Parts: sequence; structure tokens; C-alpha cells
Amino acid sequence: MTTTNAEARELVVQITNEMFSLGLLTATGGNVSAKGEDDTIWITPSRLYKGNLHEQDLVRIRPDGSTVEGERNPSVEWQMHFSSYRARPDMTGALHTHAPIATAMGIVGLPFPPINTDAIFLRDTQLVPWFMPGSKELADAVEEAIRKSRGCFLQNHGLMTVGKTLRDAATRAMNLEETAKIVLYCKQFGGELTLIPDEWVGKLAAIADFI
Ligand SMILES: [Zn+2]
Repeated sequence: MTTTNAEARELVVQITNEMFSLGLLTATGGNVSAKGEDDTIWITPSRLYKGNLHEQDLVRIRPDGSTVEGERNPSVEWQMHFSSYRARPDMTGALHTHAPIATAMGIVGLPFPPINTDAIFLRDTQLVPWFMPGSKELADAVEEAIRKSRGCFLQNHGLMTVGKTLRDAATRAMNLEETAKIVLYCKQFGGELTLIPDEWVGKLAAIADFI
């Protein structure tokens, strides 16, 4: 799937503003990218408030971090975006969120119990241990995790998701937060979890890639 520079840029602004209004990006936490042309990506800028982003705020960068277009500095996590695309070359969108409930779930290290279909589809979500935000070490660890799943928890930090389109990456990020929220509510109600029977877990897991 090819995305033109103009389409990629527009999509990053649209998804960033949506994810902010949903609370998955915080005032300055989290970053969003989409592949443009010629091995470049459009990415959100470093530190700028994410609630009112415009196309002129974005930066188009090469894999070495150098700028092609844009006035601002790229997100400090730019290496993590490129490493995610390296892990899955067919992906064109990547999203790093600070979604509070899923982030908390990553901190306590819970896997998703099979409580609903989304939990089964998301059960391959990887857990990346703590590395300094913006570091090459974090980018390398994310690359390894994204080879195994389209999403990962970054422990004590947030999440990373990728998709064939940036919309797909955003959908996965939303599903992770919603499913983590249901797990949280279940824990608050207390009592034993009623799980989907094993035979159905297997059947549903087998079609997860098509969803
Ligand atoms: Zn972050």
C-alpha cells in the first residue's frame, strides 16, 4: 500500500487529534507517524502540545533522523517508529500512546485473560521492559517485539502499535485501552473471571490476523 506524502501528513494530524481527544495521547506524551514517499515518514514534533496539531507542525524525516520538510524537531521516539517499520515493512502507520489504563496493565504485567473476543485477538501483545525513552535500546527492543505482534506494552511508559494503515494502528491502540479497561472493571468487581471456553479461544485466535 502506498501513501502519498500529502495523504500521510493529513492522516497523522487527523489521528493525533482523535487520539488526544480520546485520552490515549497526553498533553505532550505519545507520538504518531505515517510512511510517506522515498523511505521517509511524517511524524509528530517533539514536546509540542498534542491537542491542537496542524499539518505545518509535522516533520518529514529520513531513516537517519535528518529532516526533509518541517520546521520543528521530530519526536524523540523517531528511532522507535523506524524500527517498527523495519520489523514489518508492509505497515504504513505507527502510534505510540500513553493510554493510562493499558499502560497501568503493562506495569503490573498482566496478560489479557480471554474475557472477550478483543482480549483473544490482542493476546499476542508483547511486553517490552523499561528502557530510556528515546533511546536506541528502546527502538531495538520494540523492533523485536513488533516482529512478533502488531502491538506491545512499553513497561513503565506506554504502548506501541502498528498497522497496514495508520487507522489500523489507531484501532488496535483503542482496542488495547478498551480491553484493559474491562479487565480493570472486572478486578474492581472482584470474584472469579468467567472465561471464554478453550475451544473457542483457539478458534478465535486462528482468525485474529484477519480482523
Ligand atoms: Zn512515550
